[in-house]
Order: sequence, then structure tokens, then C-alpha cells
Amino acid sequence: MTDLFDLEHIWHPYTSMLNPLPTFKVKRAYAATIELEDGRTLVDGMSSWWCAIHGYNHPELNKAVTDQLQNMAHIMFGGLTHEPAIELGKLLLKITPPSLDKIFYADSGSVSVEVALKMAVQYWAALNKPEKTNFITTRSGYHGDTWNAMSVCDPVTGMHQIFGASLPNRIFVPAPQSRFDGEWNPQDIQELKQQIEQYHHNIAALIIEPIVQGAGGMRFYHPEYLRQAKELCKQYNLLLIFDEIATGFGRTGKMFAWEHAQVEPDIMCIGKGLTGGYMTLSATLTTKQVAETISRGEAGVFMHGPTFMANPLACAVALRSTQLLVEQDWQSNIQRIEKILVEQLSDLAELDHVADVRVLGAIGVVELTSSVDMKSLQQQFVERGIWVRPFGKLVYVMPPYVITNDELNYLLGQMSEVVKNMQGAHSNVLA
Ligand code: PMP
Repeated sequence: MTDLFDLEHIWHPYTSMLNPLPTFKVKRAYAATIELEDGRTLVDGMSSWWCAIHGYNHPELNKAVTDQLQNMAHIMFGGLTHEPAIELGKLLLKITPPSLDKIFYADSGSVSVEVALKMAVQYWAALNKPEKTNFITTRSGYHGDTWNAMSVCDPVTGMHQIFGASLPNRIFVPAPQSRFDGEWNPQDIQELKQQIEQYHHNIAALIIEPIVQGAGGMRFYHPEYLRQAKELCKQYNLLLIFDEIATGFGRTGKMFAWEHAQVEPDIMCIGKGLTGGYMTLSATLTTKQVAETISRGEAGVFMHGPTFMANPLACAVALRSTQLLVEQDWQSNIQRIEKILVEQLSDLAELDHVADVRVLGAIGVVELTSSVDMKSLQQQFVERGIWVRPFGKLVYVMPPYVITNDELNYLLGQMSEVVKNMQGAHSNVLA
């Protein structure tokens, strides 16, 4: 049942206050189970938007938070530092691209993208190229909801028309079309090449989600795109920014998605799974060269410093979460999930109203031929005891890595039933 106060006064993500979508009140959550206020339990297919990689209410993560709480919940990062930030930093440098050496802790994914864009602008300013302030990116990207992060999101799904001229104009090229597991089509890179050739004097960086375009369409593209993009960046003096906020921490079958292409960025954003979904924390990592160049510039410093930068509680739980991940055979676990996703979802591709089914690591996507009625589908999923939140034409899952085979089979079985029942029942499908 939807809570009335919540319905009338609390804004939920991307929701109308005149006609809000229903919400389900959660009492608690543990492992891959979400328990609703009315006692129903749901198998979680969303990991709370990619974050809760170890599931909910994890004893080790709870302990990391409560232990840290005995020392301090927060302390300013200007002029002070602390063990959780340092230890987390050491671990992050071990698992991220070898050329990345400096870490800026920020408070959310979007802010880490803002930080990355600012780093790129300050970098070129320090090299006496103040005209290099714009950004180039691909269509179907998603980088967050703050102003400049939004400016590099797909202009259609990112709703640029709503914000009109208030948004800076970025350079967009078509999204890569060659599939991750398909043939590389050299045409794919042509538009990026042409635009960079034409506008490189004014471009600070190319920003892109490596391999998986997440909220902009759940698309998996060919690693060759990244290899050639990197070459273009080198040739035309652009920094390369990887937004690994959604793809990080094992989700695609590699610790970070850059590994699929073996292409290292100059700047990389991480977040979401960083704290195991316990609280908000992100980081922007960069190379020694970029950091030192910025520091040699006129300002002499990097101009950003959020109040909750490197929050000790968040760093402590992020440290434990990342340790938990690297200590286990996470690759085999992701392969276990991937195998079941393939087994359970592949047949759906034969349905007339299914355009495509794709799986990579612990991500399973069913793309329909037309947009879904989210309200109706969400309701049906909850009635069947699963938590899946579709958007646009996409019904997809990215479960917590602790999900058991039985839970995963149940989740996918129920989800498939709902998708199958949509056949012919086009009243469920909004044009
Ligand atoms: N970049 C990517 C690739 C994302 O998927 C997201 C969140 N969906 C963000 C940035 C923004 O992160 P946050 O919501 O924590 O601001």
C-alpha cells in the first residue's frame, strides 16, 4: 500500500506530483530479499540501481559502519585526513587502471562526473589552451542529473529539450552500433573521427561509459570502439574520461569495464557499488600527469571541495565492501549469474514483441519493441514476488552478487512470465 504522506509530500525520482507512480513501503532488506511493510517479500533484481553488490544488511558491512561510528561519523577533509580514506585509496589504486594515481573523493556519481569535467578544463587551461572547454560524447550515454553531467547525457532520453538553452551545447556522435559480442564495423568510429578532426581545438575531453551504456539504453558495444577512440584522443589532444560508475566492481565480468578493451583513460569516475550500496560516495581518479599539470596551472590547485568529501563512514564501508569483493572468487560468481541469465532469458528473443535479449556479466536485458507501462509492470512484478523496475523499452535485471541460484531462477522465471504475457496484450504496452 502506498503511504499517503509519501504520496502527497515526497518527491520520488522522475515522478509527477500530480499523478505520482505508486511506491511500495519497505520494512527491511537482507541479502537479495526486500521485505515490504505488509510482510510480502521480493527477490531483488535491481541491487538498488547497481549499488548493493553484496546484498542488503551484510554483517561485515554493518560492522564496518558501526566500528567507524565509534571513532567519528564525519570530519572535514580540508586540512585533515583519516585511515578509512587512506586505506580505501590504497586498495582502489590496486584495482583500477595502472596509470591512475590520484584520487578525488566526491559525494555521488553525478558529482564525480562534474569533477572529471572540471579536471579536464583545468588541465587544458594549465597548458595554456583555455579554448579547450567543450566535451564530445556518444548518443545513448548517461552520466548523471547535475547540470554538466546532464549536458553530456543523451539529448533525447536525457530530456535536453526541457532545459533548453540553459544547458551547455555538447558535441554528440552516434552511439556505437557494433555489438560487444559481434563483428567490429569500422564505420562505427567514423563520425567520432570526423567531429574530433573538426572541433578538437575546442574539446577538452571525450567522456564515455566503457562497454556498457547503462541508463541511456543498456547497450553493450564492441571494445574496438574504445581502442580507436583512445587513439583519436591521443592524436588530437583530448583527455579520455571513462564513467565506470555503473560498470565498476565486477558487474560486467571484469573488475572495471576498461579491462574488456585494455584501454586506460586519463580520468575515471567510480561510484554506486563502491560502498556496497550502503551510502553515497564516489571517486574521480586521474593520472599523475593530469594532476600535476592542473597543480602547475595558474590556480595552482584543483577547484573543488565538497563538505562531505571522503566521509569516513562511507570510506570505511567502501573499504570493507571492496575487500569483500577482492577476497572472494568474484569472477566465478559473476559467471554463475551470467550463465543463468543466458539460460533463462535467451528464449524470450523469439517473442514478436521482444526486439533483443542481451547478457553481459551480471546484467540481463530484455529489450521490447515498444515502451512498457512501468506502473502496470511494476505492480505485476511485485505481485509475483520480485523487484524489477523497467524503463522505456527495457526490462532488465542486475541482481546482488549474493543472489542464490534458486532466487535467481525464481526472479527470471517470474519476470519471463510477465514478459510472455505481454504478447498480444498490447494494452499493457504504451506506444
Ligand atoms: N554515471 C552513470 C554511468 C550512472 O549510471 C549514474 C547513475 N545511474 C551516474 C553517472 C550518476 O550517479 P548518481 O546517481 O550517484 O549521481
